[in-house]
Amino acid sequence: MISELNDDYVKFELCDTDASIANALCRVMIAEVPTIAIDLIEIKGNSSVLNDELIAHRLDLIPLTSECAMSMQFSRDCDTCDGDGQCEFYSV
Ligand SMILES: [Zn+2]
Repeated sequence: MISELNDDYVKFELCDTDASIANALCRVMIAEVPTIAIDLIEIKGNSSVLNDELIAHRLDLIPLTSECAMSMQFSRDCDTCDGDGQCEFYSV
């Protein structure tokens, strides 16, 4: 039952089902929200206890929402550069 709904938020109650259905719904919702991710990271100085690769990997995993994400395309689908460089159609 949906109790709240607007353009970027929905609150609903899922009843009388098991965790696999809830997990499937969660995965579909995550897949359908257009997000962008950090792909290239240059660390100029790191005085933390974490190494550069770990920090870069953690940053890669953060899904970023953006209004331009809806109009972007996958790098593999770019006809302009064949997805092998930074291109205005799939990078910001
Ligand atoms: Zn391109």
